[in-house]
Amino acid sequence: MNTKNYNSLLEDLKNQEHYMEDENEKTIYDEKRKVEALFDRKLVCPVCDSNITVRSVKSSSIRILSRDSDFMIHYKEPNPMFYDVWVCPQCGYAAISAQFNNINDKQIKLIREKICSKWHPRTYPPVYDIDIAIERYKLALLSSIVKDGKISERALLCLKLAWLNRIKKDEKNEKKFMSQALKGFIKSYESEIFPIAGLDEPSLTYLIGELYRRLDDNTNALIWFGRVLSNTSAKNSIKDLAREQKYIIYEQRKNLAEHIEEADDRDSSDKKGFWKKLFNISKQSNA
Ligand SMILES: [Zn+2]
Repeated sequence: MNTKNYNSLLEDLKNQEHYMEDENEKTIYDEKRKVEALFDRKLVCPVCDSNITVRSVKSSSIRILSRDSDFMIHYKEPNPMFYDVWVCPQCGYAAISAQFNNINDKQIKLIREKICSKWHPRTYPPVYDIDIAIERYKLALLSSIVKDGKISERALLCLKLAWLNRIKKDEKNEKKFMSQALKGFIKSYESEIFPIAGLDEPSLTYLIGELYRRLDDNTNALIWFGRVLSNTSAKNSIKDLAREQKYIIYEQRKNLAEHIEEADDRDSSDKKGFWKKLFNISKQSNA
């Protein structure tokens, strides 16, 4: 290797090292920033009476980036949704933070029998990633099923699992949980007293319509959006959302109809082309 090549290789390596150092520093800085945005809270588990610590995001560190049409909020990291399920590391009982202490004696007995007896104590790292968040929401869903909690509680957990899978870009699991959330919300709409999952009637009606739309059932989506628009107690903001989503469906239908028309035109001109070619061939063969 000549000196020039050697020097340039050395230079390349140096640059790479710098790059790696920068990347490592950036990762360490990001982790440090996330840890600083979190705080621990001490409480007593209502199921096993152990003293436990749960982690949350400081409200001063919560930054909203955007909102989706099904009420999902996108946050700058750390995402508070990742920390909104509290899990007792000692017994495995899990629930959304606001519902954690909302459990009666009969439900405690069921959780002890069916979850605590099979649970192996588990520790989590200081910062939760998307897979840990999904695992914790699934534990909350399991606790909710075992304690026979409200249908709307399970529906909301399924909706959040759909949202977490949206962040993960796992469309198959997003739709799977969304479809369960939709079934649960329809049942709770028919059987529970409002507010349901923190939503008033027009907002839940809209959400059901929007979940239908996202699951490609436009016919049912339009029925539920129609209910929002004819509800005299619905606020203008929720009516506007229903109108916007209705408009999206009509636009999609219009585009689809235009595509079909174009395809029909193409099809008939292809046929004309075929006859034209056939005629030319015949002429040539006659010549
Ligand atoms: Zn416990």
